[in-house]
Amino acid sequence: MTEPGLDAALALIADVPDFPEPGILFKDITPLLADHSALTAVIGALAAPGRDADGRPVVDKVLGMESRGFILGAPVALALGVGFVPVRKAGKLPRATYAVSYSLEYGEATLEVHQDALQPGDRVLLVDDVLATGGTARATVDLVGQCGATVHGIAMLMELGFLSGRDALGDVPLTTLLTV
Ligand code: AMP
Repeated sequence: MTEPGLDAALALIADVPDFPEPGILFKDITPLLADHSALTAVIGALAAPGRDADGRPVVDKVLGMESRGFILGAPVALALGVGFVPVRKAGKLPRATYAVSYSLEYGEATLEVHQDALQPGDRVLLVDDVLATGGTARATVDLVGQCGATVHGIAMLMELGFLSGRDALGDVPLTTLLTV
């Protein structure tokens, strides 16, 4: 089912050329976040992959990737009636973590999750704003695997189709609300 107002909500995402560096077209979701109707529509749509055909939640946790995945993921977790788990950049989580490092265009990045955040067998929904190269999502899928949990699906606002990030995710179900 299409969420009412979803197209109007996604139209609020602003293109910012050459940010944070020349050649990057930055997708700014802050106008969407500031609009209650738009935010309601996208949270409903991002939660949908965490439900079965009858609308019942089928995941145990929602994971959000730093940092816009926090903003979107926590209300998705509330909508599904489950808890939220932050996936953070290296050194930010205070207790024992699992970690996955991955390549960026220049250098490396590391993502971490608390070791006790997920239980073996948990089914989780990953939430973030933009799928670009897919490196962040791939690393998060691998983190979930270290926890002994399973990725039920990935929900993102937007996919930059020309970067083929989807290819990095294998057969993990990916739902994006908009492809550009
Ligand atoms: P990637 O790991 O390459 O798929 O990049 C995904 C992460 O970078 C996401 O957390 C996005 O928030 C951010 N990102 C990448 N490209 C853009 C873009 N053009 N506009 C806004 N955010 C972006």
